[in-house]
Amino acid sequence: MANKDWGKVKQGTKAVWAGEGETYFEGAAQVPIVNSVSYNHDDLDEWFEVATGKREGHIYSRNTNPTVQVFEEKMRILESAEAATSFSTGMAAISNTLFALLSPGERVVTVKDTYGGTSIVFLEHLPRFGIDVKMCETNDADEIEAEINKGCDLLYLETPTNPTMKVLDLKRLIKAGKKQNAVVMVDSTFATPINQNPIALGTDLVVHSATKFIGGHSDAMGGVICGRSDLVKKVYSFREINGATLDANSAYLLLRGLKTLKLRIEKQNDNAMALAEYLSNHKNVEDVFYPGLEGDAGHEVAKSQMKGFSGMLSFSLKGGFYDVRKILPNLRFAHRAAHLGGVETIVGPPRTTSHVELTENQRQKLGIPESLVRCSVGIEDIEDIIDDFSQALAKI
Ligand SMILES: *Cc1c(COP(=O)(O)O)cnc(C)c1O
Repeated sequence: MANKDWGKVKQGTKAVWAGEGETYFEGAAQVPIVNSVSYNHDDLDEWFEVATGKREGHIYSRNTNPTVQVFEEKMRILESAEAATSFSTGMAAISNTLFALLSPGERVVTVKDTYGGTSIVFLEHLPRFGIDVKMCETNDADEIEAEINKGCDLLYLETPTNPTMKVLDLKRLIKAGKKQNAVVMVDSTFATPINQNPIALGTDLVVHSATKFIGGHSDAMGGVICGRSDLVKKVYSFREINGATLDANSAYLLLRGLKTLKLRIEKQNDNAMALAEYLSNHKNVEDVFYPGLEGDAGHEVAKSQMKGFSGMLSFSLKGGFYDVRKILPNLRFAHRAAHLGGVETIVGPPRTTSHVELTENQRQKLGIPESLVRCSVGIEDIEDIIDDFSQALAKI
């Protein structure tokens, strides 16, 4: 199956079939979980060839593992990339890639609204190694482009952003980055390969926290980068030594989740759109942040680069955090947790979850109201979700 041409095959079919073999050990039709740490090689010459990369095969599971490899191959094909490599978490994917590709004296251009953990790498860790990081206003494409033009070795983008669902103009910014010969990297976790394909828009690398929509069932962590094979190879060599390897059991759960990726994402897109519309007409709701809404600042760009607007939205309440306290505990069909992308609806206030490290003033500067609720809309029947929000909002 691996050698088949995937060019014309659609995403839903790829999610089910890509990367999988026809049969495995004893004729098993499903990908086995290979829990072996190492692999026997009775032929010393063959062993040497595998160890030196001249022949395909496995040596030690920190480096490669058959189950993990199927996950990487499925993601590679879903992103139409030359290569892919995986990690124990999304943050491992992001930090390993940045540390593998950057050297002292180099300059990174990025935005202020990156994922919380990512922004800590930019603020605290890269500067310790003499790497200059410029974090631009996420909504200001002119500023981002101007900073890229001042010199840029790596352009790091994330869209849509967490938690206010800002949308970056990928085509424009990738073009600007490429003109400066920067490596361009896009965190596409909120979009998934169903809603957005940054490689088709020219990026060198796309990164996902597989912990979120890719796995989709909130029971396994992982990360993956897909893109140019020379870059992926460099990052793989770093990860091999750094040791942030994806475990075979997690790889299996992520693969199992991926089979239903398209079904889940299309349903979550639809549910989020309906909930966003409902909330934007509610008297207690101050603002709804969802690029699917026509009035949303990111709507036009999102329409041009996304196939769906994602299952993520956020909204603020007129009564401030007092209102958040009223509604969140009263939701029947929602986890109150610091997570997203699962089949169940998940809610949380960024002031307690993703942006808890910041002061109220810092959150305000990022445009994150104290009364903001981030909502990862699940695959439940939308009537039940809306009824649930309706009864909880009525408690205000
Ligand atoms: C969760 C998340 C990450 C980090 O992934 P982990 O698997 O939790 O390490 C990175 N980027 C985005 C956009 C995320 O939502």
